[in-house]
Amino acid sequence: TGAYSKEVEASGALNAYVEGTLNIAADQAKAADQRIAEGDAPDMCGIPLGIKDLFCTKGVKSQAASGILDGFKPEYESTVTSKLFDAGAVMLGKLNMDEFAMGSSNETSVYGNVVNPWKVDDRDLTPGGSSGGSAAAVAADLCVAATGTDTGGSIRQPAAFTGITGIKPTYGRVSRWGIVAFASSLDQAGPMTKDVRDAAIMLEAMCGHDPKDSTSADLPVPNFEAALTGDIKGKTIGIPKEYRMDGMSAEIEKLWSDGTEMLKDAGAEIKDISLPHTKYALPAYYVIAPAEASSNLARYDGVRFGHRAKLDAGDGITEMYEKTRAEGFGAEVQRRVMVGTYVLSAGFYDAYYNRARKVRALIKQDFEKVFADGVDAILTPATPSAAFGLGENMDPIQMYLNDVFTVTVNLAGLPGIAIPAGLDASGLPLGLQLIGRPWEEGDLLNVAYSLE
Ligand code: GLN
Repeated sequence: TGAYSKEVEASGALNAYVEGTLNIAADQAKAADQRIAEGDAPDMCGIPLGIKDLFCTKGVKSQAASGILDGFKPEYESTVTSKLFDAGAVMLGKLNMDEFAMGSSNETSVYGNVVNPWKVDDRDLTPGGSSGGSAAAVAADLCVAATGTDTGGSIRQPAAFTGITGIKPTYGRVSRWGIVAFASSLDQAGPMTKDVRDAAIMLEAMCGHDPKDSTSADLPVPNFEAALTGDIKGKTIGIPKEYRMDGMSAEIEKLWSDGTEMLKDAGAEIKDISLPHTKYALPAYYVIAPAEASSNLARYDGVRFGHRAKLDAGDGITEMYEKTRAEGFGAEVQRRVMVGTYVLSAGFYDAYYNRARKVRALIKQDFEKVFADGVDAILTPATPSAAFGLGENMDPIQMYLNDVFTVTVNLAGLPGIAIPAGLDASGLPLGLQLIGRPWEEGDLLNVAYSLE
């Protein structure tokens, strides 16, 4: 922990940490030393972590990188961070992110953007989002590992942009309790780490049934590390033709075919598959996620949490809500609340929200069919490109297209992992994604491990 504290204090250059918690870290590290000395140390004991600002941490500012939660210090600890701390992990600080996890470039944060530690010709690039602070901190060695959350790709896309590993588990595997809600039917937390083994160890510590989250699955937690044999002989890997998008760059095509070859060489059977509803995933996601967000964010009313606008004489409660929310939420969050409110409104509910839910069911069925046909995992690129320049991608629709390979996984509730898979021509990391059967994170991690 000592070795990292200097970095946390001086992490201004990347803007990855938004709050240092080195006092807490010192106490946790001392307790961890004690456990290690007593021979009672789980694998996470003494491991210095960064925690995404979306996780509520008791007595420590937890703002989801939003102005509306200005100064909010929860009186409770999220289930995930409690579990990690019980396992002996050490919290170095809170990590930057897109406001309320809405974004793909970490440029919507009230704390300002994060800088990717990878550079081309000194050009500042995005680390991706929304878990951009987590990705940058792990990639730049500002912690050993970090927590992330993934609603439509926010673990996997930043992992790919920074050359690290990130897994979004099956929906229900990790408790959402104490994590600031974005789109509750899609949100899952997961580890962001330097390699697959670390991901397996940390995921195991984060998982488990939690009665405080009604969607948390009551299933035993497997030993994910034990699944890492590297043996994938006889496994069937699906290559979905719908992910071969028009205009896909030659580099991404090559990344994908090289990955396919490696799996084949390792003894897997490669199968061409079809997921016919893929093209509707992005529009369905950008209806469902804002709809749920508009409902979840209704609680920020200027009374219960954080910021309240200064009011003028004669202002009533409506003015208080309006002024508080106009000041407290950034532009992207306001856009989501407006879109979400619109698609849920009486006249448009069936045309947008209900239709998106039907599309979601079809996307899920596409996956169920290929798994029933014997496919064990699906290989795709993680992102359509390498990291782009900060300030380069200002059109919201263009930004949403970044999530084209990742959102299907959330809509279907499946586990997905991004792993580093080489560099592009300018020397930037590129990632591959593997999608697994529900509840088979062990198998999925093992296929990823065979590619390392
Ligand atoms: N980029 C997507 C969005 O902005 C996904 C975000 C996430 O997974 N939290 O909604």
